[in-house]
Amino acid sequence: MKQYQLVCSVCGTPIYEEPPCRCPKCHAPAEPLIDVLEDPERSRSVIEGGCNKVVWDYADLLPVEGAVPVTLGEGNTPLLKADRLGEEYGFGSLWLKNETLNPTSTYKDRFAAVALTIEKDRGARAVALGSAGNAANAVAAFATKAGLKCFVFLPPGAVAERGFQIRSYGAQLLRCEYTTADCNAMAEECEKIYGWKSLGTIMIGNPLACEGYKTMGYEIGKQLGFRAPDWIVVPTGGGALFSKVFKAFEDMKKLGMIDKLPHMVSAQAEGCSPFVDAWERDLDEAEDWPTIPDTCAFAIADVIPFDSRKVIDIYRKTGGRAVSATDPEIITAMQELARREAVIAEPSSACAFAVAKKLRAKGVIGPDESVVCVLTGSGLRDLRLFAEYQTDPVPYFARPDFDLIRPTIDAYLAK
Ligand SMILES: *Cc1c(COP(=O)(O)O)cnc(C)c1O
Ligand SMILES: [Zn+2]
Repeated sequence: MKQYQLVCSVCGTPIYEEPPCRCPKCHAPAEPLIDVLEDPERSRSVIEGGCNKVVWDYADLLPVEGAVPVTLGEGNTPLLKADRLGEEYGFGSLWLKNETLNPTSTYKDRFAAVALTIEKDRGARAVALGSAGNAANAVAAFATKAGLKCFVFLPPGAVAERGFQIRSYGAQLLRCEYTTADCNAMAEECEKIYGWKSLGTIMIGNPLACEGYKTMGYEIGKQLGFRAPDWIVVPTGGGALFSKVFKAFEDMKKLGMIDKLPHMVSAQAEGCSPFVDAWERDLDEAEDWPTIPDTCAFAIADVIPFDSRKVIDIYRKTGGRAVSATDPEIITAMQELARREAVIAEPSSACAFAVAKKLRAKGVIGPDESVVCVLTGSGLRDLRLFAEYQTDPVPYFARPDFDLIRPTIDAYLAK
């Protein structure tokens, strides 16, 4: 496979360090040097031609040249126009990028496809990672497809269903205290001791594989006919997804395919919101969250905001910001997405819509503006959380006699 030069994602300085790959000058995370302007015609045709198949439509803009793709049909997810919720809350237009439809039910498959393609090409035997659950499922699935062993460290906050899914793919699950960051540190020990690549989904750890997330931004561009939305709201944990969605729009802007950059907004849970803290205090880098996170949006409750230097640079460049939602606001948003738009999104994803609503209510998002909320992962593994609020009893009939059933149906119709 081709070797890629790493450069600083903010100032462009070449980076030669092993992970953690940070800029010696400004501390921002690394990215591979893939310049869309090197062959603008080619780049344009790749981005225009996307959305037919999968992530691999964009192989020319990913750091995988010369490798055989490991794929499960990831990407190419729908961009749904949310007319019911859009009208209800007074949005000019509201769009939902439905990433729940990926093979393992989250957008992390875009990372895992690239990561396992690289690891298989390198002849790796196994991979390891610490995760809140979604990255682990994506990596476990693609490792299985590639024929590699996979070791997963999960912290106590990860819901049991994530673990069941991981074990279903045949990966070795290990439960470990305390946080996702601690679990990541254990995977890094595996890398030192056994030489297995630690596949944490952060730019400073895996700058090449994180490029897979760009494909989501290219897809949104194409799905909107290359008219950039006014706002994009992205659930943010460590910041890799946020940074790469932006990078896709930056690429399309450089190529003259769109005429402006969207305002980029990070959505976080109030119970773990280091980016909101950093934005409000106008810091260049976010500080670690001081406590073990307390929120149902566990997938974005990263106590160490690894790639924050880049994320904060993007707020400044796009007039963006970080905004948090409380757990009750997140759960309401989750229920509304299911009941009005028929998308079962997990709490971390519903957080994006909860935040969009708040910004619209305050008038930060104007009445004629377009907004894309990225629904990063499926709530089908969180049905117990939905069930907690389904307190009205399910009608039960001891006999299949329609005269007994009819009054119940009429009462429901009258509601
Ligand atoms: C991983 C994840 C995110 C964002 O993570 P980053 O670390 O910011 O890239 C958002 N939503 C869900 C559901 C996730 O699993
Ligand atoms: Zn730099």
